[in-house]
Amino acid sequence: MAKQEDVLKKIISHAKEYGFVFQSSEIYDGLSAVYDYGPNGVELKKNIRDYWWKSMVQFHENIVGLDAAIFMHPTTWKASGHVDAFSDPLIDNKDSKKRYRADVLVEDFMAKIEAKIEKEVTKAKKRFGDAFDEQQFRETNPRVLANMKKIEDIKNRLYPAMDSEDMEGIRQLIIDLEIADPISGTKNWTEVRQFNLMFSTSMGSTADSATEIYLRPETAQGIFANYLNVQKTTRMKIPFGIAQTGKAFRNEIVARQFIFRMREFEQMEMQFFVRPGTEMKWYEYWKDARMKWHLSTGIPADKYRFHDHDKLAHYANAAADIEFEFPMGFKELEGIHSRTDFDLKAHEEYSNKKLRYHDPEINESYVPYVVETSIGLDRMFLAIMSHAYTEEKLEDGSERIVMKLPPFLAPNKVAVFPLTKKDGLPEKAREIMDGLKQDYMCFYEEKDAIGKRYRRQDAIGTPYCITVDHQTLEDNTVTIRERDTMKQERIAIDKISGIVGDRLKVR
Ligand code: ATP
Repeated sequence: MAKQEDVLKKIISHAKEYGFVFQSSEIYDGLSAVYDYGPNGVELKKNIRDYWWKSMVQFHENIVGLDAAIFMHPTTWKASGHVDAFSDPLIDNKDSKKRYRADVLVEDFMAKIEAKIEKEVTKAKKRFGDAFDEQQFRETNPRVLANMKKIEDIKNRLYPAMDSEDMEGIRQLIIDLEIADPISGTKNWTEVRQFNLMFSTSMGSTADSATEIYLRPETAQGIFANYLNVQKTTRMKIPFGIAQTGKAFRNEIVARQFIFRMREFEQMEMQFFVRPGTEMKWYEYWKDARMKWHLSTGIPADKYRFHDHDKLAHYANAAADIEFEFPMGFKELEGIHSRTDFDLKAHEEYSNKKLRYHDPEINESYVPYVVETSIGLDRMFLAIMSHAYTEEKLEDGSERIVMKLPPFLAPNKVAVFPLTKKDGLPEKAREIMDGLKQDYMCFYEEKDAIGKRYRRQDAIGTPYCITVDHQTLEDNTVTIRERDTMKQERIAIDKISGIVGDRLKVR
């Protein structure tokens, strides 16, 4: 098994053991690609969501919030294009009986060629040392050029076939590239078929009057449908944004890799409404702002990269992903899309209601253009968890697992321990706990040796542990232990809150 898969497995079992993430309906053997967040998970998730909200809404005077319902009028999804176009091309391998997204099979194939190119460049870099001119090498090396041409040729067949829904064309591409099923190893493929990803249910009391409605596959449409309500009630002037967090549902076919791809997940989206013609400026602005947000968690820049889209969705005139290096490699974490006026125009057309903005600066009415930032909360959770997970060998030969979470995102900020259960230590520790919990999420524990208690807090990423001992009763000092260095210091009780508060600041 590849080492990276090992890491993901370890994170999954750690997440379960310490109450971060459970398989949904586990007592019934689970429900595929659906997960529940346990007591520590729910805190971490809430902290990530709050941090996003604060950065978007609290820090931007021209961004306001919304909480639209999951159910929307079914025509919404006709207007947005989801009824007709929100589908994946699927192909089955007749031997393994496994189902794949046909475009993903081809994209994976291209990624392998890309990896060959990168290997070639790395090799040359080593060989030539300082004298290496990477650009020249990429532009002249015959093997690199041949592989780049291969990728170009594949793109020139895949994307037009996807756009025109030419299922036979996609299948032929898979056959021509001799792509084999990773499980059976055979090239025994079925036809390619389109499969809509929206879940539907019915609303209404009787079978005759019931209407088929969808569980929203993205939160964005709730924002578009409320665009005028929000603009009018807040008297926002363009450019302005509407932010929303909430559940979205997709009947994903290739649903694996833990909470990376789920059937029920949470999005944090912001639609930024701008004057037509200025959208590229704002697109670049939000690409930059969102990358800065990611780096502000303290995760190093080399774990992130941009991926500009060659193939654009039907609504976009520019799009990029922020990719993160998950244990299974670089994958999409957030999308930044310049959505043009596609959505608002479509809703105007289907609803027969005007969704225009009168711009007093140029004295013109128009349908605004939109730049969207869309991030999966669960994917961000996985990014944070996988970067934080650390196995350490200590000087005394023992080992510990420590979640080096950014302190401001940690489920508990402080754990308070009386050294023993007697001599009035629990009472004193409780008094400290009661003071701190007004401001911070805290945890109190008396059971087990102090070392064991420290380890349990390390495993869930608590930045500080406070221990109350006999000296505390004499001079009102405690020991404070820092998670990453494990250093302990003796400080006065009234200094605890300041030290913890300082560490929780986002720098
Ligand atoms: P992918 O290509 O991985 O399917 P997407 O391009 O369809 O993602 P968007 O529609 O742009 O994704 O959704 C915005 C964000 O929502 C994604 O960047 C991702 O973080 C998150 N997201 C999308 N689908 C899922 C899912 N099935 N499970 C968890 N998060 C998801």
